[in-house]
Amino acid sequence: MRSTFLPYNRPDLTEAEAEAVAEAVRSLWITRGPRVAAFEAELAAYLGVEHVAAVRSCTAALHLALVAEGVGPGDEVVTTPLTFVASVNVIVHVGATPVLADVDPDTGCLDPEAVEAALTPRTRGVIPVDYAGHPVDLDRFRTLAARHGLFLLEDAAHALGAAYRGAPVGRGGHWTAFSFYATKNLTTGEGGALVCPSEEALERVRVLSLHGLSKHAWARYTEAGSWFYEVHQPGFKYNMTDIDAALGLVQLRRFDGMQARRAAIAARYQEAFAAEPALEVPAVRPDVRPAWHLYPLRIRPERLDCDRDTFVEELRRRRIGTSVHFIPIHYHPYYRERFGWPKGAFPRAEDYFAREISLPLYPSLSDADVEDVIAAVRDVAARHAR
Ligand SMILES: *Cc1c(COP(=O)(O)O)cnc(C)c1O
Repeated sequence: MRSTFLPYNRPDLTEAEAEAVAEAVRSLWITRGPRVAAFEAELAAYLGVEHVAAVRSCTAALHLALVAEGVGPGDEVVTTPLTFVASVNVIVHVGATPVLADVDPDTGCLDPEAVEAALTPRTRGVIPVDYAGHPVDLDRFRTLAARHGLFLLEDAAHALGAAYRGAPVGRGGHWTAFSFYATKNLTTGEGGALVCPSEEALERVRVLSLHGLSKHAWARYTEAGSWFYEVHQPGFKYNMTDIDAALGLVQLRRFDGMQARRAAIAARYQEAFAAEPALEVPAVRPDVRPAWHLYPLRIRPERLDCDRDTFVEELRRRRIGTSVHFIPIHYHPYYRERFGWPKGAFPRAEDYFAREISLPLYPSLSDADVEDVIAAVRDVAARHAR
């Protein structure tokens, strides 16, 4: 057994990030400035897209997209129950009605067929989530959106670095929101980015992300700037800062290396657990490259004498930290009570949740750490086998 506790997640930060942040501080650009612009340009180049806004968080990005689409009371937006609450909170924040549709039982991603069945004349758009970093079936969502005149807002909080049919997630031409929260594959501490479907959409998002102040107001304290601005629609305070962007620029340069390490760890887990009768390894569709934000292992309760919660506790006793993704949206009291979704309403998401354990997966795990995780999981599975 390990002599120290292995945390479930640890941000991968080096002296280079620390130095870059210190430089931003010394430059006195501590809010939106040249580093944010550089981060947007480098992220756009990395994704191969043109219209990227760096913002405060992925939640802010999702919210801005809905406001830019003019979503409001009376509108419905379809999303998945197997997500972080932010994906659904933003629908409530614009006064619209969230509609849930069940997930694909293999990938945990929103199922396009279930979405089709949930559409009504009031449906305005769909927010599919690239669960664990596995891209959703984008071709089917694009067809569905085009056929019904809906916007597509991909919650790619887990999916920077993922690819669908050879193209990076984010290059699909629709709204795509990324997260740079501390636990995500690339971090700025807190941060996010929104890929916009057009130049006009990007301009709208830029204005909305800074109080609704007219164009380029962020540069008003520079020599080229002007004190004049106007507000045509009240916006939000959702801009990224140069301190965050300094961190993000270094992370972006290190990103391919970090992703390669994630993929190698995931491959080792897949190999180690594939033949275990009590375990189900995450499915990977042949036409995708997952970002491996999470490693969502599932237990097969019929082969064990314990449930998921006990399995998690047994791993903790063996000093392995884990997490669970996600508590289905309709289990949260607010959503259950406000929208009247009963337990059993989304059986595939519920089954996924009941069996899921997210194992440690981050670049700074050593090979020995990975083997400790594998040994602990196998030991618990063996001791509880039936
Ligand atoms: C982390 C996460 C978010 C929110 O990201 P923030 O940057 O913290 O706002 C949204 N959706 C999903 C699926 C997430 O995991």
